[in-house]
Amino acid sequence: MVRSDLWRELCAVSARLGADRAIVQGAGGNVSLKEDGTLWVKASGCWLADAEAKDIMVPLSLEAVRRRLADTAGQALDGARIDDPATQHLKPSIETALHAVLPHRVVLHVHSLNATTLSILADGPERLKAGEGRWSGAFVPYVRPGSELAAGIAHAAAAGGDRPNVFVLQNHGLVVAADSPAAAAGLLHQVERDLALPPRDLPAAPAGQPSPAPHYRWDEMLSRVAMDSRLTSTACGGALAPDQVVFLGGPAMLLPPDDRAQTAISAYHGLYGGAPSVLLSPGRGGYVMNDLRAGADDILAWVIDMLRRVPPDASVAFLADAEARALAGWEAEKYRLAQSRARAEQ
Ligand SMILES: [Zn+2]
Repeated sequence: MVRSDLWRELCAVSARLGADRAIVQGAGGNVSLKEDGTLWVKASGCWLADAEAKDIMVPLSLEAVRRRLADTAGQALDGARIDDPATQHLKPSIETALHAVLPHRVVLHVHSLNATTLSILADGPERLKAGEGRWSGAFVPYVRPGSELAAGIAHAAAAGGDRPNVFVLQNHGLVVAADSPAAAAGLLHQVERDLALPPRDLPAAPAGQPSPAPHYRWDEMLSRVAMDSRLTSTACGGALAPDQVVFLGGPAMLLPPDDRAQTAISAYHGLYGGAPSVLLSPGRGGYVMNDLRAGADDILAWVIDMLRRVPPDASVAFLADAEARALAGWEAEKYRLAQSRARAEQ
């Protein structure tokens, strides 16, 4: 496959976005370009930050992807691939469908801090409206990533009378669409400025408390979270977004006042199918699991950055427990985790 100037522009834009932790965390986020009937889309589990150093964009037949939209994303896209030896070992992003349903030449999907924080707020739709002016936004109710999400975006795009080019995906992130990579990146930064939510300061934490459970260690940043009662109850109240479930297993776990961790950990296991990555003891300390999954550090920092941006007058709408459980056992996400692990071991 021949790579065009537009393709190179997309890779340059992707590498810049991927290097900015406020926009992209770990292997999160994906981008696409439609050119001459080809849909170039980021490969699952690859890092946007690597876009100029490696071939990470998979070419697909746009028409064939659109025909397959009714199927689950991922495996069903194999028949839409265009022969390209450089990328034949990669799988297209599990979010490919959302790129195909929009008519715009360039689509960027990220979990940027301000838009994603807005996406978890109960009054997110009103706040999105208030940020409009330079762009037209649509708030897309939560559905699982993949073909259902693509259908939600297609519906929002068709229902928006003034042709939305900005989509806030509830409990998930942001999609922006434009006619060139540079214009799309400019729009993304504009949206982040227009929706900016200032982070609150965290109190200082008392130094190193002993861990209440084996396999966990004291962590300064999490201990500062534990000193803020509002932040602690939000952090333990439920999952905020899919990547938190995929990389951290679910929300933080609230330690009982007597710090008897094991019973609470067993109950958490029953609910989310695994041990919590984070334990919070209100007013005492925060603890992180010793062997976090590859890429989980970035996701943990991202979750804390979002919690700090929740405005004092806003309430958070968590992901339903059933949705979180569905994500935890999803095969497509297991592939993405394995890719993340492979990169970490390189
Ligand atoms: Zn996403």
